[in-house]
Amino acid sequence: SVVVVGSINLDIVATASRLPTPGAKVTDASLTRHPGGGAANQALAARRLGADVSLMGRVGSDPAADAALALLRESKVDLSGVVAVPDEATGVALIAVAESGENQIVVAPEANLRLISENLQIPAADALIGEHLAPGDAVARAIATFNGFTCVVLATASEVDETVLRDADLIVVNESEAAWYSESLALRDGLVAKTFGASGAALYRGSEELARASSPAVAAIDTTGAGDAFAAALTVALVEGQSYAAALRFACAAGAAATERHGAQPSLPTRDEVQRLLRE
Ligand code: ADP
Repeated sequence: SVVVVGSINLDIVATASRLPTPGAKVTDASLTRHPGGGAANQALAARRLGADVSLMGRVGSDPAADAALALLRESKVDLSGVVAVPDEATGVALIAVAESGENQIVVAPEANLRLISENLQIPAADALIGEHLAPGDAVARAIATFNGFTCVVLATASEVDETVLRDADLIVVNESEAAWYSESLALRDGLVAKTFGASGAALYRGSEELARASSPAVAAIDTTGAGDAFAAALTVALVEGQSYAAALRFACAAGAAATERHGAQPSLPTRDEVQRLLRE
């Protein structure tokens, strides 16, 4: 089983021909709303890959909360650790997606900010996946006490907690985060997975490269959620006892599959879909 800690958002997605440059405007967008948020995406990704999953997070007491949790509820993710905070709004991500599949995201965390200070009672599980928001946040505190495999996704360009750097079994970063955090990550003994978009990913321990995988070639239409699918799949595969190389291939296929449909959560693949992509 997997417990996931972190943000739950409603994604408001504008799909347009291209992304605006700063100060410019693009006026040909169409609008959709999807459930999103890093932890919510990771939870649903792990669930669709076959794991029993519980999610811990904070939403507001507004109609957006129901919309944000709809797919998780449908897929039977345990939501008993998700609290609706009175007088708060549910987190919102404003996402612009271009025809090329590239995106640009602005997040208003709202109720998710409660996770920085609250003391969560993390249930027992084989693995913990946490989205790290700031030093000393609930994820950093959970890592210190959790008994099992721990994966941390570095979501923002802020400082990384010392505990997370030292104790997390796996840290997942994309290319820009890898550059931003390179000095801190170089000092670690644990695993670091770096994702390179369409070019795949690599797994390191310190400066040693343990495995490298390319991504299956797909017709990517929306990369939102690819990193979350990757992190969830890598954790699930490693906890299942797959080798580093096999687990990394599996995670790359899950990330690639998540780019083939619109939206973060609607696009998360089932295990069958990932395996089909691995056989192609
Ligand atoms: P993030 O979404 O966090 O920025 P990446 O863009 O690196 O992370 O994507 C994570 C993983 O998803 C990649 O390692 C890759 O396996 C897969 N992926 C992302 N974009 C594509 C793409 N255009 N084609 C194929 N696979 C992709």
